[in-house]
Amino acid sequence: MNYDILLKGGTVIDPAQRLNKIKDIAISNGLIAAIDDDIPKDLAKQTIPVKHKYVTPGLIDIHTHVYYGVTTWGIRADDVCTNTGTTTVVDAGSASWASFPGFKEFISEPAQTNILNYVHISGIGLIYGPVGEIHDLAYADPDRVADTLIANRDITVGVKVRQGKMQVGDNGVEPLKLAIRAAEQADTPVMCHIGQGIPLPDVLELMRPGDVITHCFQGNGDNIVDEKGNVIPEAWKAREDGVIFDVGHGGGSFRYEIAQRAMEQGFISDVISTDLHTGNIDGPVYDLPTTLSKLMHLGLTFEEVIEKATLNAAKAIKRENVIGNLKIGNIADVGIFDVVDGEFEFFDAHDTKFFGSKKIEPVITIREGMVV
Ligand SMILES: [Zn+2]
Repeated sequence: MNYDILLKGGTVIDPAQRLNKIKDIAISNGLIAAIDDDIPKDLAKQTIPVKHKYVTPGLIDIHTHVYYGVTTWGIRADDVCTNTGTTTVVDAGSASWASFPGFKEFISEPAQTNILNYVHISGIGLIYGPVGEIHDLAYADPDRVADTLIANRDITVGVKVRQGKMQVGDNGVEPLKLAIRAAEQADTPVMCHIGQGIPLPDVLELMRPGDVITHCFQGNGDNIVDEKGNVIPEAWKAREDGVIFDVGHGGGSFRYEIAQRAMEQGFISDVISTDLHTGNIDGPVYDLPTTLSKLMHLGLTFEEVIEKATLNAAKAIKRENVIGNLKIGNIADVGIFDVVDGEFEFFDAHDTKFFGSKKIEPVITIREGMVV
């Protein structure tokens, strides 16, 4: 027996290898061992027939909140990820330097899901949601945040900052500047939440190539499109400069109409993430495949949404050599999906209902070569 598992006859979609074809995939010792047109069954201990199903790299959700039991919005990652084809999640700033050791020991290490982390620039992280975390700039300690990133490169990906009036009070874009200072010290990207009350051009002007804007289709004010519905020139410029735009659906940060207007003009997000937390896991977000289905309704193909939740997501967190693809020798994180036809009801984050004719349904999740 050469292989532990053989996935037989599925349509393999791996944007990193420009692959969209019926192929067999063999897994051995937790790694992708072979991809070929026909791998004989007798070479594997277990064969899983996946004919008429899509086989993709395990999905990567770059915006979630999984610091369960400690922070305002923390969910249990394994409860939702391991049955949705989502093998990697990034917690977007629940922890900062002070609470990071707990995140690592009690959340990241024991989980079956691969859990990474954006370290919040505010030392209190997202421990108390009702009050904005950086009304007082004294909460920001770029040196300690940078030290945490440098000492934990295996599970950290960057610095998180939230730039809405609710989070920053009268501090304008100062929190973002402090986040960038920490990110520069540690040579990592920043993920910046955008929202009402802070002019978006002021935020975009500071963003560096490779930094991530999350909630790009939020519609609470200071949106990516102006009152006439046109994408603002500063957003086009930022994109040209290499700033990454991410959906970050959330409980209040995805307005269908904004996404529609932006996408009609060709402004399509680079990455699709959920911002999954306690306030939206029972709807309207549910999970990453549901969010991907919504973007398919907005005109993207299955292959395109998979690219945004695998290859592009991996690039945004600078892990594209490790995860988000099915290259031989890499960790065998795999999602197996159906795309079903019908009439499906979806909601954005503002109770806007729309109907989609396709829905992505997770079938099997494989994490580090094990069927979950
Ligand atoms: Zn969030």
